[in-house]
Amino acid sequence: MKILDGKEVKEKIYIKLKEKIKNEKLKLHLSVIQIGNNDESNIYLKQKEKMAKELNIEFEHIKLDKNSSEKDIIEKIDRLNKDTKVHGILIQLPLPSHINTEKIQNKIAPLKDIDGVTDINIGRLIHNKNCLISPTASGIIYLLEYNHIQIEGKNVTIIGRSNLVGKPLAILMNNHNATVSLCHSKTKNIKEYTKKADILIVAVGKKNFITKEYIKNGAIVIDIGINRFENKGLVGDVDFERVKKKTSLITPVPGGVGQTTIAALAVNIYKANKLRESKNIGEK
Ligand code: NAP
Repeated sequence: MKILDGKEVKEKIYIKLKEKIKNEKLKLHLSVIQIGNNDESNIYLKQKEKMAKELNIEFEHIKLDKNSSEKDIIEKIDRLNKDTKVHGILIQLPLPSHINTEKIQNKIAPLKDIDGVTDINIGRLIHNKNCLISPTASGIIYLLEYNHIQIEGKNVTIIGRSNLVGKPLAILMNNHNATVSLCHSKTKNIKEYTKKADILIVAVGKKNFITKEYIKNGAIVIDIGINRFENKGLVGDVDFERVKKKTSLITPVPGGVGQTTIAALAVNIYKANKLRESKNIGEK
């Protein structure tokens, strides 16, 4: 059993990106919109700010009042869409309940949509065309590729079908010629799908959701889940200590997918600039 180190992958990606940004004399700019004040959002915002600082990317935190209307938020997005110095726009989730998340996300110009959440980017991903892809999903590809793990021909089971994580990941894995099972809360007998997985990826948001009985011997297990506990800190969705013995490779929480997600977000800012320079979203 080997532990897949997300931090190592992130550091390698940062070194390459830093060099490219310097050599190409780029002045990249990331704008993050936060609505209201949410502890979880604040943690993710800090990570993004740290990433930007490390890579010499300008970071702008736009904090809107929790009672902001959809119109107020859309006006802000429109201004950022038009601002040529802005390369990436991100809406920090979760949004207050009176806001339609999907509607707001779709107001971001597809070329600045570094979370890959707009209909245009999702559509292009389905067509396997050049686009901006969910950083959690593309970060997992970086992690596997860095560790020379072949995806083609593998049985990949994903648990969790959110628009931000599970669904784009399923499409991306399919684009890499894996055979994908996408499970969710209405799936009957999840074990049937997890037991045949060469690569099992879990994004549910429940501590110890996956125990060793769910694992095929020698499988690769990737834990996307982040569950915060005051006394225990961060834990994933996988019962790491017991499951690891049955796996060939496993990601830890923290230190796994969280690290590759932030690295992939940085790659997306660079890629957004490239796509814009090519004057369209870019053909394959
Ligand atoms: P989400 O929107 O809450 O989606 C959770 C998914 O899990 C849903 O598809 C849900 O099914 C499924 N689910 C819930 N209970 C289930 C059950 N008993 N059996 C099977 N499936 C079940 O969450 P998310 O945004 O995708 O995030 C998932 C986890 O990943 C969270 O812990 C989040 O913090 C973490 N996360 C980590 C990163 C990272 O970079 N490491 C990035 C994003 C998210 P239904 O669709 O049927 O409701």
